[in-house]
Amino acid sequence: APHPRIVMPSALFAPERENSAGTDLASPPVRLALEAAIRAGRARAPQPLPGARAVTNPADRRELVGWVRDTPPEAVPAAMARAEAAAAGWALVPAAERAAMLERAAALFEAARDTLLPLAIREAGKTMGNAVGELREAVDFLRYYAACARRELAAHRHVPLGPVVCISPWNFPLAIFTGQVAAALAAGNPVLAKPAEQTSLMAIEAVRLLHAAGIPEDVLQCLPGGGETIGAALVADARCRGVVFTGSTAVARSIQRSLARRGDIPLIAETGGQNAMIVDSSALAEQVVTDVLASAFDSAGQRCSALRVLCLQSDIAARVVTMLQGAMRELAVGDPARIETDIGPVIDAEAETSLRAYLAGQRVLASVPLGPACMHGSFVPPSLIAIDHIADLRGEVFGPVLHVLRFERAGLDALVDALNATGYGLTLGVQSRIDETIDAVLSRAHVGNAYVNRNIIGAVVGAQPFGGEGLSGTGPKAGGPLYLHRLLRRAPAPVLA
Ligand code: GLU
Repeated sequence: APHPRIVMPSALFAPERENSAGTDLASPPVRLALEAAIRAGRARAPQPLPGARAVTNPADRRELVGWVRDTPPEAVPAAMARAEAAAAGWALVPAAERAAMLERAAALFEAARDTLLPLAIREAGKTMGNAVGELREAVDFLRYYAACARRELAAHRHVPLGPVVCISPWNFPLAIFTGQVAAALAAGNPVLAKPAEQTSLMAIEAVRLLHAAGIPEDVLQCLPGGGETIGAALVADARCRGVVFTGSTAVARSIQRSLARRGDIPLIAETGGQNAMIVDSSALAEQVVTDVLASAFDSAGQRCSALRVLCLQSDIAARVVTMLQGAMRELAVGDPARIETDIGPVIDAEAETSLRAYLAGQRVLASVPLGPACMHGSFVPPSLIAIDHIADLRGEVFGPVLHVLRFERAGLDALVDALNATGYGLTLGVQSRIDETIDAVLSRAHVGNAYVNRNIIGAVVGAQPFGGEGLSGTGPKAGGPLYLHRLLRRAPAPVLA
């Protein structure tokens, strides 16, 4: 179904603008066009570049998607010097002009859907529906931060930070990449973007479109390469004045340490979670099952926001688990380029190996069998695993693995305390028809984004600012009104009404 258009009248959350309508996959001509674009992408044999590495499709490793040339580490200082030289000029471009470039980029992104959607599917293993969501969110970020800049920066004095390093993950190779870059640019900073190694082709394409929209090449440079080499060198360079990072808690910590030696350099970090859904006995079981499947298994569980542990009040637990086992049998795992597919591959062989090793030692309650379509790719059977205590969870399991435990109503507070004690605080779901239960959980839990009687993924730019606390991130929330302010050295007072 097409994404509902969200027009937020609230000045606090969203300056006047509309979210992208996306691409309606329910319309046969639209779907046929996408399928044709995917076939066309496959038919074009990418030309090998000297010194480049091959990018293959995670759903079928035999399929070559393209070639990427990584940045040599010795090129980092020159790139940083180039960004620094561009900083003063970019800061002088009026905020409204910077915004206009981002808005132009949004239109170019939408027009490039026949390139971007197939790339999300073939490089990142996204299902068709997820690819559409990916492009839509990228466009929303461009327009949202442009609107913030127009409204909050255009008429006020503000001082940008200087060169900002953006390090983005492979799980939202277009949306998060673009969100980070758009915000830093809107605030008036030159950007050095280091995309995830697994999804560099998408980043290169996005940067091409941003340049075409008028962002000067010195102001936005794309530096594909490894995190430990290129990412670390960018962060360690004394000319780096700010960092935006989405990825693991461990890497965020090492970035924070590296920056801490140099005084007050802002770091916006968005990391993982140990996200729970708490279901009491008054919840509607059918609704719970639908929301759990989406929360835990959409994007093969490779979202920071994804559900990791389902907490069922004992009275309802057996019924929900039985219904989940039945519903999981209906899930289609396979080629993400087919509209029938619900769940695609995990990102690479390394992820597959470690997820399978994790599953090997567990009490598996349900597991979706993998068919022949999964033979040549990195697939992991979506699985339901029994645990007894929140403390049994060890670190974030970033894949289609859902833990489930039972609790007694009298133990509700203790359950929330145990979740808080993991140190993470990203997303949380509550399913209940009793207001006191909902209030009890929401007032006690330390999380960035809480969802009541719905799934816990897919925060909408401008409507649901997204980000966590504790080990889950530093804030401010992406797609929210305070984000640009962290990217300024001197910010105007936020406009709140
Ligand atoms: N914003 C995404 C969501 O709400 C998650 C982002 C992430 O995985 O980093 O599902």
